Amino acid sequence: MERLRQNFITIQQKVEKAARKSGSRAEDITLLAVTKTVDIETTQQAYQLGIRDFGENRTRELNRKQAALPAGRWHMIGRLQSNKLKDIIGRVHLIHSLDSWHMAEEIDKRARYLETEAAVLLQVNISGEEQKTGVEPADVATLLDSLGQLLSLRLYGFMTMAPLASVGEESRPVFAELYNLREKLKEQFFANVELKYLSMGMSQDYEVAIEEGANIVRIGSALFG
Ligand SMILES: *Cc1c(COP(=O)(O)O)cnc(C)c1O
Repeated sequence: MERLRQNFITIQQKVEKAARKSGSRAEDITLLAVTKTVDIETTQQAYQLGIRDFGENRTRELNRKQAALPAGRWHMIGRLQSNKLKDIIGRVHLIHSLDSWHMAEEIDKRARYLETEAAVLLQVNISGEEQKTGVEPADVATLLDSLGQLLSLRLYGFMTMAPLASVGEESRPVFAELYNLREKLKEQFFANVELKYLSMGMSQDYEVAIEEGANIVRIGSALFG
């Protein structure tokens, strides 16, 4: 608990500093604690420290931890599978990993059935790595345009992953490109789309991400490690 507290304080200070540098406010940046490597007890300790947003990349783990900590806001950050959507739609606060039109239709269908609205981010493959999921930057505008048809899905922004081995400064061009894409697309109107979140930056590069405009950072090892 003590180490977790120290880590949390250090991260908050760095977030504060990066926010100042970028002209944003630290309170507008969401620290999303990625709990995939820790147990429920540690997750609850993070909640006690004041962390409210939690992310998991697997549905079962997400369901398990959310059941133990229903007061938290839970985010799905991992690859989506159609057959598991029923376990996350209507339960999670935000899905970060929409990566295809087909999946958007599936999410919409499920949300409509539940008479709810699914809040999602579109994962964009900026780095161009083949093993990375996400929509190609060149295809984003077309997809956003089509989302007007899906009345139970609302897109709140973009998420990206920097290349696997990249740390700190190496990630900067990737984050800057997603920011620029968002700024460009903000000039157009897309129904059911509100481009207010940029989910980018992890333990190795969250400060750089904030400097480049991130307002959600997904942090695992720097917090729990
Ligand atoms: C694991 C994971 C993170 C957190 O990674 P750390 O390097 O531990 O901070 C962030 N985003 C996604 C999608 C992840 O799977």
